[in-house]
Amino acid sequence: MTDIAVIGAGMAGLVCAQQLSLAGYSVVVVEKSRGLGGRVATRRLQGTVADHGTCYLKPKGELLQRFVELLEKRQIIEVWTDKVEQFNSDSRLTTQNSALCYVAPEGMSAIAKFLAQGLDILLNQRAIAINPTPENTWRLTLESSNAEITAKAVVVAIPAPQALALLAPLSETILDAEFLDNLGSVEFSPSISVMAGYPPTSQPFPNWKALTFVNHADLAWIGLDSSKRPHPQQPHFVLQSSANFAQLHLETQDLQPIGKYMLQKAAEALSLPWLFNPDWLQVHRWRYAFPIQPWNAAFLSATCSLPLVCCGDWCGGNLVEGAMLSGLAAAGEINHQLRHLPLDNVKFFELFNS
Ligand SMILES: Cc1cc2nc3c(=O)[nH]c(=O)nc-3n(C[C@H](O)[C@H](O)[C@H](O)COP(=O)(O)OP(=O)(O)OC[C@H]3O[C@@H](n4cnc5c(N)ncnc54)[C@H](O)[C@@H]3O)c2cc1C
Repeated sequence: MTDIAVIGAGMAGLVCAQQLSLAGYSVVVVEKSRGLGGRVATRRLQGTVADHGTCYLKPKGELLQRFVELLEKRQIIEVWTDKVEQFNSDSRLTTQNSALCYVAPEGMSAIAKFLAQGLDILLNQRAIAINPTPENTWRLTLESSNAEITAKAVVVAIPAPQALALLAPLSETILDAEFLDNLGSVEFSPSISVMAGYPPTSQPFPNWKALTFVNHADLAWIGLDSSKRPHPQQPHFVLQSSANFAQLHLETQDLQPIGKYMLQKAAEALSLPWLFNPDWLQVHRWRYAFPIQPWNAAFLSATCSLPLVCCGDWCGGNLVEGAMLSGLAAAGEINHQLRHLPLDNVKFFELFNS
């Protein structure tokens, strides 16, 4: 029996769990993957790492600004660039000055690992059902071990369509239709990420680190991921598709040819023919990459007798900053519904400063 079960160890779930455990609640986080961070994702490959999810942090508000300062002080992140190249519709390249973009030399998932310190997290454990018990608690059923967790409150920190699939079976008796309709109104766009490595002798070599494709049918972004690493042995890139292109290939089984096609398009657009012939190539599909139809508040709370609150980047904002703000807001709401323990954002940072 725990006070709060948090489903999902992405940025929203981790921030929420930290805030609640700081306040004195017992918290268990369950995560279906074997790593932390969700879409703040890093893959180990070919003796290096590549960020195939979040590429960088660009703080806008106070919360992420302070978190970035803290991460920088701990040498987990550093400034990568303040310039992002643009490939425009008329095929012109222009350089845009940007706010500072911060990256983690060890891979962006290092940020999630930092945030997860001290938390009780069960990895490789997908939550497959939530049910109320006669004792007025929630019971979470986990897939791999058929284990169960009992909790007074549940935070569902996963993309809304996945939350809907998990919670819809409760609709008849427990959850009201309006809550499920609100969850169902949220839409995400997908994305395909290609990671590709090249011989060190590749020429001509671009002089940019990050480039956005403006209104391109197939491509959205490309970054020289190896330039984030301390001692790169060979150049490697991460290339992200447009939402439309990913939508077309949502059910395609073999993604390797899709990745090759994207490299071909990038090679043509940027006049870098060697981009089409990588030494190695890996492709990842994000079914729920970016919220395009978000919920209009920082969390979504179910109207039922037991506390159940949903959060994530799809609540109120977007990107990592939105996910963190939503995680904090969900923690506040759970605290409000449970015990009203002292809870404020300052404490959140004190944990890591001690
Ligand atoms: C390709 C790409 C590039 C991006 N680039 C940037 C960027 O440069 N800057 C930026 O700020 N943001 C970027 N983002 C967005 C950013 O990654 C997200 O906004 C943020 O990470 C969302 O965090 P979250 O906690 O809301 O959700 P998620 O990160 O999706 O976390 C949800 C977690 O729940 C787990 N889960 C799902 N279902 C279950 C279940 N049933 N049981 C247990 N666990 C479950 C998932 O495995 C996942 O770990 C990018 C996203 C993508 C896809």
